Amino acid sequence: MFTHNHTKGVILKNHPVREADIVYTVYTQRFGLVHVLGRSVRKGKLSMGMSLFSLVEFGFIQGKSYNTLTDVSCLHSFAGARESLLKLSLFYRLAETVLFLIYGEEKEEDVFHLLVGVMEEVERKQLSSREASLIRTYFSFRLLDILGYRPRTDGCVICSRNIDKEAYFSPSKGGTVCKNCSFRSIFVGDIEVLRSFLREDMDSVMGYDHRLLERVLEQYLYSLN
Ligand SMILES: [Zn+2]
Repeated sequence: MFTHNHTKGVILKNHPVREADIVYTVYTQRFGLVHVLGRSVRKGKLSMGMSLFSLVEFGFIQGKSYNTLTDVSCLHSFAGARESLLKLSLFYRLAETVLFLIYGEEKEEDVFHLLVGVMEEVERKQLSSREASLIRTYFSFRLLDILGYRPRTDGCVICSRNIDKEAYFSPSKGGTVCKNCSFRSIFVGDIEVLRSFLREDMDSVMGYDHRLLERVLEQYLYSLN
């Protein structure tokens, strides 16, 4: 049986196939991550609405082996943001993070709202490369949180001791550790930095040490793989 679906989604990837077709990878509001085949879109008007990183409302027929795009209307193209190389590369990194962490059909509407919310902020703000890095890290930790991989920061994950100014982060243990348990861990310093980064909204964390947080994130992501 073929089902005709409609949903909103953000286009994370477009991959040309054959002469005129494109496979789109879209993070949708209703179905999570969806791959949809646009037939003859490279020559037709469907492609107009399906620009990379656009927020679209689209229809597709769910077939046995693949989904076929039927119609699309662009809700927001993020054209302004895509003109900035810094913002465009940040969009690529956000998309990369989503595709790295989500492969199945996880129907997490929160992921959709997080993605659109952060992209809107990126479009609105004047960004330095330091801030772009922080936004990507912030987004990744929020995404990890939604997916159930929030790092633990309530104390030492190994010996349960309280930690304050001399905290380390253990990527493989997925949380903060004390000095005694800090083998192969990243020195974080004040544990409150990590706690508040995971708790506060985006504007409140823009002054944080982007290199440290990026390092914590990268190694944590690596250990999840
Ligand atoms: Zn410990």
